[in-house]
Amino acid sequence: MYVSEIFSSFQGEGPWAGVKQVFVRLGGCSLGCSYCDTPDAQRPSRWCRIEREPLGRSFYLRPNPLEPQEVCGEVQRIWDPSFHSVSLTGGEPLEQPEELAVLMSHLRSAGLATYLESNGTLPGALARVVKLAGVISMDVKLHSSGGTGDLLGRHADFLRLTEGRPVFLKVVITAATDAREAARAFSVLSRIRKGAPLVLQPVSASGGQEPPDFERLAYFQHVAGDYFDEVRMIPQMHKHWKIA
Ligand code: SF4
Repeated sequence: MYVSEIFSSFQGEGPWAGVKQVFVRLGGCSLGCSYCDTPDAQRPSRWCRIEREPLGRSFYLRPNPLEPQEVCGEVQRIWDPSFHSVSLTGGEPLEQPEELAVLMSHLRSAGLATYLESNGTLPGALARVVKLAGVISMDVKLHSSGGTGDLLGRHADFLRLTEGRPVFLKVVITAATDAREAARAFSVLSRIRKGAPLVLQPVSASGGQEPPDFERLAYFQHVAGDYFDEVRMIPQMHKHWKIA
């Protein structure tokens, strides 16, 4: 499988912000969001960089592709009981569904909890791994935020598959985000899982997009609250902490 990097840090997004995780960042994502903050992981790379020791910020390189069992071995080498889970992120991890399923099976056999971070657009791939996933972080992509086209149908199919699993939804809000588009997405998705926490994430200034002002954020919180039981405004904490 094509891996961009394996390292340890603190989760910077969503309701689990602050927990300590080992991150497996897979290479490859075909969506091309305009605010993408991991452009290097949009294409599979020749090399994977791997942290030498937990939170050590010193890396060595291994050539891609790696076998899922090798990836699991590298995670176990960094892992200690103070970690919350293994974040499977990208790129888009579900663009390598076969390999991801094998990796998740190995991690489960090793007793390590998983946290799947996905752009929420590949329901067919999710179906292969959903029973192996611990927490699922599902993005909701709005065209007016990231220029990705209308993905609502795919998001709805994806969310239906998460029934009975811990999931939260994450929507990036920029100064250009269209309230009608957002309300339409909230309406459709809340009919599937109204009780799933919805995180409104103001785009980080470093993402190349204009962040929304306070009034606009408050307005989106109000709109989302008409549909979902639990709405939270959480910025990307790792940008504030100035860490990866
Ligand atoms: S889905 Fe994620 S990794 Fe893919 S382009 Fe968008 S922000 Fe980047």
